[in-house]
Amino acid sequence: MTICRRCVFAVIFFVLLVCSQSGFAWGVTGHRVVAEIAQRHLSSRARKALKELIGDQSLAYWANWADFVKSDSTYRYASRWHYVDLPAHLEKDAFVAALKALPGENLFSRIPVLEDQVKDKSLSHDQRQFALKYLIHLIGDAHQPLHVGRDEDQGGNKISVTWFGKPSNLHIVWDELLVDFQQWSYTEYATVLDVADKATVSQLQSGNLADWLYESHILSDRIYDNIKADSKLSYRYNYLFMQDLNDQLLKGGLRLARILNELLG
Ligand SMILES: [Zn+2]
Repeated sequence: MTICRRCVFAVIFFVLLVCSQSGFAWGVTGHRVVAEIAQRHLSSRARKALKELIGDQSLAYWANWADFVKSDSTYRYASRWHYVDLPAHLEKDAFVAALKALPGENLFSRIPVLEDQVKDKSLSHDQRQFALKYLIHLIGDAHQPLHVGRDEDQGGNKISVTWFGKPSNLHIVWDELLVDFQQWSYTEYATVLDVADKATVSQLQSGNLADWLYESHILSDRIYDNIKADSKLSYRYNYLFMQDLNDQLLKGGLRLARILNELLG
């Protein structure tokens, strides 16, 4: 049987198109880095409580589950939990007001609900475990700046760029290409980032969800301001944003640990 080349190209194009629109959020490695850093900052009480909820598996093991279930239409209702879309360049007060005014469920409205469910011992084991798996993931998403992006371009999904010559989009660059470019395994990455002293750790853990989303908003403004359509991104882009990327991953991990320690400690 001969398969025509055109058909092969058509299939490849289709797969690329579908993948490029899925917006997987921090990609597999980024979410695991956040979860692994959190794991290293758990209190012994939280560790014990987590063992009851997820057994011997690590937080990193579950970090991407909430993206994987997107392929199951049963969970379609939860796809809006992964992000917020807001206008550009908002001052803090306007940003928080806009967050609170967002219609329907979203990243900002869902996280407190999940926190309550993880804590609520009147819920079933499965309900609490479900909430925990989402919480691990969504705290990661809250720190991916383009999950606090703009509606008109779907958080950068509609902004075409090339990454080392390959066609992609801005959202995917931040979800995974920039992370993967560092060439650390997720445990190596957690190890190299997790070196802050105690005072810095508690300073990074301070604030609330709106504060953390505002930091992502400020960073996403800088990302948007730095990009023109069809930008050719490579070494220079990595040089410009590597520190921001690393800061976001570390903060996500430390803050997830704080939340779990508070809920389960
Ligand atoms: Zn996500």
